[in-house]
Amino acid sequence: MEYVCLDCGARYPGDSLLYTCPQCGGVFLLENLDFSRLKERDGAAWREVFDARASTRDTALKGIFRYYELLAPLLEEEDIVYLGEGLTPIVEAAPALRDKVGLPFAYKNDGQNPSASFKDRGMACAFSYLKWLCRRHQWDEVLTVCASTGDTSAAAALYAAYVGAPLKSVVLLPHGKVTPQQLSQPLGSGATVLELPGVFDDCMKVVEHLAENYRVALLNSKNSWRILGQESYAYEVAQWHGWDVSGLCLFVPIGNAGNITAIMSGFLKMLDLGIVAGLPRVFGVQSEHADPVWRYYAAPEGTRHWQPVTVTPSVAQAAMIGNPVSFPRVRRLAERFVEAGGEKAFQVVQVTEQQIMDAMIQANRHGHIACTQGGECLAGLINARALGLIGGDERAVLDATAHSLKFAGFQDMYFNDSFPPEYGVTPDKSLANRPELLLPESARRGRNVAEFARMGAEAVVERLGLKKK
Ligand SMILES: *Cc1c(COP(=O)(O)O)cnc(C)c1O
Ligand SMILES: [Zn+2]
Repeated sequence: MEYVCLDCGARYPGDSLLYTCPQCGGVFLLENLDFSRLKERDGAAWREVFDARASTRDTALKGIFRYYELLAPLLEEEDIVYLGEGLTPIVEAAPALRDKVGLPFAYKNDGQNPSASFKDRGMACAFSYLKWLCRRHQWDEVLTVCASTGDTSAAAALYAAYVGAPLKSVVLLPHGKVTPQQLSQPLGSGATVLELPGVFDDCMKVVEHLAENYRVALLNSKNSWRILGQESYAYEVAQWHGWDVSGLCLFVPIGNAGNITAIMSGFLKMLDLGIVAGLPRVFGVQSEHADPVWRYYAAPEGTRHWQPVTVTPSVAQAAMIGNPVSFPRVRRLAERFVEAGGEKAFQVVQVTEQQIMDAMIQANRHGHIACTQGGECLAGLINARALGLIGGDERAVLDATAHSLKFAGFQDMYFNDSFPPEYGVTPDKSLANRPELLLPESARRGRNVAEFARMGAEAVVERLGLKKK
C-alpha cells in the first residue's frame, strides 16, 4: 500500500508512519497498489465473500475487517485489534416518526460501538496498523497523540489501553468543550489527558506542531489509516441493503470531514469492483454555527472558494470545527462521486441549532438513541425534504454517530430551558421531562417496608389516577 498526497501527488510506502506529506503538508489517501487484482473476482463473488463472513467465528474478520481486502490488506491477522466495533444496527424509524418526516428512513446506530461513537471504526484500523508497524520495526515505545472534540480521544484511549505496550495514549482536549461523559472515557482508560484553553481547531494546531517536530503517532482523522477503517460504514450499509443502494440517501454530519470522506471512498471502491451497481446519494449536514463545507458548496460551481470559519458554540459539539482537515479529501471524492452518480449525488445541507435539538429530542422520544449529531442528521433530512432535494419515494439512512448518553447534558439544558444564549435554542416546553418526587425524604423514616410500600403505592395511584381492577 502507498500514501498518495492529494496536493502534490507524491507517493510514499505504506510501512512508514506518515501523517501529512513531508514535501508539501498535504493530506493523503491510501492506495492499494494491487487494487486492480481485486477485479479478478467479479462483484457477485465479492458479495459472497463478505456475506459468508457474516457467520465467521474468527474475530479478526468479525468487525470492520469483514471487508479486509477493501481496507488494509497488508496487515497480518495477528495484528488485527477487535473490540467489537462495526456491524452496528440499522434501526427503522419508528412509524410515528416516519409519518411526521414524510418518508421512510432508518438510523444506523454507530453509538453502539465500544466507545460509543463511530470513531472506533477508524481506531480499530489505525491501531491494527500501529501494531503491525511496531512489530515490523521492533519499536519499543510509541506515543499516540490526538486532539479531540471528545470521541476521538475516547476511542484512541480505549484501543491504546487494550493493546498496551509498546503503545501509550496522550489526548489533548479543549478545556470545557467536551462533555463530562466524553472526558470520563480517556480518564477511565488510563490515558494522559491534557487540556488547553480554546477550541478544537486550536488543539489541532498544537498536535500538528508536535507531529512535525517530534516522534509521535498522530491519531486525528488526517491519519489516513483511520479513514480506511471508517469506510466500513459504507460497506455495512450496502450489505444491509442486499448490495442494492439505488434510491438510498445517506445523511452524515460533517466536522473534520473524515467520516464523509471515508463513506464516499467506500462506495466508490464498491462501484469500481462491481459490488454495487450504482451509488447512493450522500448529504453532508452542518450546523450554521460551524458550516465551512456548506458555505463552499452553496456557492455556484466555478465561484467556489475555500474559507475556514470561526465557530460559535454548537450543540453538535463533536462537529464544531471551522477548519476541517479533510476538506481536500471531500473536494476530491465529491468530484468523483458527482462524476459517477450525477450532480445530485453529493450535497450539503445546513441546519440551525434549534432544529438539531428539536430533532434529537423527537428522535429519542420515538425510541431512538440519537446524539446531537444524530439529531443534526434528522434535521438535515427534514430540511432536504422541505427544499425538495429528496423525494418521498427515496429512503434515507441517518448516521447516529455517537450514543445519546454522551450528550445527555444538552438534553438537560433542553428540558430545563437553560441553554446559554449563544446557542440560540428555545426548547419546546411541552417536551420537557423531569423526575417528580412523590414523597418527602421524611416519609421513609420510622416506617417498616410494608407500611412504606402502601404509602408509596398510594402516592403513585393518586399521581396516575389508577382505577381498581
Ligand atoms: C467526530 C464526530 C463527528 C464528525 O465527524 P468528522 O469525521 O470529524 O466529520 C460527528 N459526530 C460525532 C459523534 C463525532 O464523534
Ligand atoms: Zn504533497
